[in-house]
Amino acid sequence: MKIAVLIKQTPQLSEVTVAPNDIKWPDSALILNPFDEYAVEEALRIKEKTNGTAVAVTFGGTSAEGALRDVLALGIDEAYHVESGDFLSIDPQTNAKVLAEAIKKIGGIQLVLTGKQANDDDASVVTAAVAAHLDWPQIGFVKKFDIVEEGRVVAWRTADNGYDIVESPLPTVCSVVKEINEPRLPSLKGKMKAKKAEIKKMTASDLGVDLKSSISIKSVEPPKSRPAGAIISGEVDEVVSKLIEKLQADQLI
Ligand SMILES: Cc1cc2nc3c(=O)[nH]c(=O)nc-3n(C[C@H](O)[C@H](O)[C@H](O)COP(=O)(O)OP(=O)(O)OC[C@H]3O[C@@H](n4cnc5c(N)ncnc54)[C@H](O)[C@@H]3O)c2cc1C
Repeated sequence: MKIAVLIKQTPQLSEVTVAPNDIKWPDSALILNPFDEYAVEEALRIKEKTNGTAVAVTFGGTSAEGALRDVLALGIDEAYHVESGDFLSIDPQTNAKVLAEAIKKIGGIQLVLTGKQANDDDASVVTAAVAAHLDWPQIGFVKKFDIVEEGRVVAWRTADNGYDIVESPLPTVCSVVKEINEPRLPSLKGKMKAKKAEIKKMTASDLGVDLKSSISIKSVEPPKSRPAGAIISGEVDEVVSKLIEKLQADQLI
């Protein structure tokens, strides 16, 4: 089976700063979106089980090649980089259209895996939009695959209070959650091989996609800071009644 895993390069979140109307990305190197590590691991496991092929696709700037080399080091067979060139105004639909056209161009893909969300923009839209552009079914938030075989998959889809077991014909698009597996680490041999591996390049215009964004972000605000906590001191009985009073006043009980 030929599997494609969609990977995005994102910043280290701990190093991102948010100011009114601005998100400042760090100068440090970008990393593979942590949620995509699970999609990569699952692609490798399915590839190994089905004696198949796993390819990785990313859409992004020059540095996104680094994320592709990281996953080649883990055992991904081929890497495709749709180069975005200069920073462009792109919404999730356009991003997904580019990725869907890349999947079509690569050809023979039966299963597309993605992370549940990108940890920078947090849209959680690309998986469904890629499926829509391909006109393939989609299963979101998969925590386990029971069956992956020619023609169908049976998956556990994470739901609010448990899970749904769902079946889809192939080809299909699935996002995975981090409970699905424990991602492996690269070997030294894998890293050496990845350094020299070919990265196949494409552009949105090769894929016939017009990079026009239909939505734009009007404002970005940092979350409101929490008010400082209060310490109630005194004898136990006194503290308990003051605490109850306070919780009642704040309508928490
Ligand atoms: C080249 C480029 C230019 C952009 N320009 C702007 C801009 O001008 N203004 C702005 O506000 N935003 C911009 N963005 C952000 C863009 O809108 C979001 O990346 C996009 O909408 C997807 O949302 P998300 O990243 O939250 O992905 P989600 O929908 O949360 O991602 C779900 C999963 O889809 C896959 N995926 C997502 N993105 C990619 C990708 N690029 N390549 C491969 N797999 C992917 C991953 O598996 C991920 O786990 C740009 C993004 C790109 C790639």
